[in-house]
Amino acid sequence: MTAQEIRQAFLNFFKEKQHHIVPSAPIVVKNDPTLMFTNAGMNQFKDLFLGESPIKYPRVVDTQRCLRVSGKHNDLEEVGIDTYHHTMFEMLGNWSFGDYFKKDAIDWSWELLTEVYKIPKEKIYVTYFEGDEKEGLEKDQEAYDFWKQYVDESHILPGNKKDNFWEMGDTGPCGPCSEIHVDCRTNKEKALVDGATLVNADHPQVIEIWNNVFMQFNRLKDGSLQSLPAKHVDTGMGFERLVRVLQEKTSNYDTDIFQPMIQFISEKSGIKYGADEKTDIAMRVMADHIRAISFVIADGQLPSNNKAGYVIRRILRRAVRYAYTFLNFKEPFLNQLVPLLAEQFKGVFDELLSQKDFVQKVVLEEEVSFLRTLEKGIKIFEEYVSNAKAMMHPEIFTEVNSQVAFELSDTFGFPIDLTELMAKEKGLKVDLIGYEQALKGQKDKSRAATAIDTGDWVIVNSDEQSEFVGYDDLEIETEILKYRKV
Ligand code: ATP
Ligand code: MG
Ligand code: MG
Ligand code: MG
Repeated sequence: MTAQEIRQAFLNFFKEKQHHIVPSAPIVVKNDPTLMFTNAGMNQFKDLFLGESPIKYPRVVDTQRCLRVSGKHNDLEEVGIDTYHHTMFEMLGNWSFGDYFKKDAIDWSWELLTEVYKIPKEKIYVTYFEGDEKEGLEKDQEAYDFWKQYVDESHILPGNKKDNFWEMGDTGPCGPCSEIHVDCRTNKEKALVDGATLVNADHPQVIEIWNNVFMQFNRLKDGSLQSLPAKHVDTGMGFERLVRVLQEKTSNYDTDIFQPMIQFISEKSGIKYGADEKTDIAMRVMADHIRAISFVIADGQLPSNNKAGYVIRRILRRAVRYAYTFLNFKEPFLNQLVPLLAEQFKGVFDELLSQKDFVQKVVLEEEVSFLRTLEKGIKIFEEYVSNAKAMMHPEIFTEVNSQVAFELSDTFGFPIDLTELMAKEKGLKVDLIGYEQALKGQKDKSRAATAIDTGDWVIVNSDEQSEFVGYDDLEIETEILKYRKV
């Protein structure tokens, strides 16, 4: 099956089960202080779950474009290094708003995966919530029993609160969830490891594809749980991972979702995909990042020096630098991938096709502007590293000086995480504390100079792992540092 057919089969399957097909919400979230980008299918239905807006259709199905580069879900560092975390990805979802519950959700997941998609049953593993005595949460025996009808008990695995209990926030709807993993290891790979605990990244070829959340409680302010009068189902399946499994590939990038772009990059760079790990990573990063960049711009957010705009500028600069350093693209190139993408998403997310020229132009301008300073910045960095290496014993020279990091960001527009990435490639860290102080010093100076208070950043995603992802332009990098220390 092609990716197109796989997506369509998902929508059709649930349509036949009386689900109403709804469009994806934009990837950029406006006017929600708790969220900058859509990071899951459920975001657009939040008010429904909270009972704050009326339920028009009790059963809904969609594919939602998501971005996980900030806040609670930040997969950026994995992207390109592993082959199944993307910045932008599609989340296929079916929803019940106070309608069907665990039995139907589990029956239909199984039917879809094994009868429509024909995934061999013995490759499937599922998880259920094991309970948490301390929190007074019971084991999800119901889910276990429904799965037992189909799945051998050795393939039904318990999961803890972290992985198998979903909460919207400190208060509000919550409940146990049940994940589906597919074991794509070869027999040879299987022979190498014990197969008993096979979930969640124990092996890169055992892949989590689908999460079924059963919202059955409401967490009150005092921390207690109340049974919800109307129970809901919220599911999310990673489309690119599903396609990888069905097309029997060992990497999402080998599917027909990414191959056209990878081949184009390979052709234009004159470097074969598969030739070398470093150039492969660079190609994967480019193919991945251009999707995030394009959709964010198409959904109305331009690159800029603050908030969501800076998040996307960082991703773009990261991609430009990979292209420049590893694939020898010294001229703007990323923007040429935009028409390919627009064509690919025709009929799915037409937003990109209708704004293709605009998006391409914005990316081009960003590339031109960063390429102006990139070469010089890299040169300064390289010179600094080789001088320091010549002068210092390797055991002493472990960190890039904060002044260098500061100069790279201040004068050459290198986001701090890019400097960190370059340092990592040389086996070095960056003196982040010193960098933070340098930034603060600059900020104090500029505050004193202008006597204007610029400290109006917004705190988003205020759950317990609270990260800051909203900032004004002076504070942004400091905030990223704070996030990274969590
Ligand atoms: P993982 O453990 O692999 O990071 P997750 O548990 O964080 O995934 P969920 O929040 O449960 O993911 O999201 C539902 C589904 O979306 C996952 O089962 C997976 O198939 C897919 N998914 C999640 N994050 C990504 C990503 N960064 N890129 C591609 N697909 C993803
Ligand atoms: Mg994750
Ligand atoms: Mg997971
Ligand atoms: Mg999950």
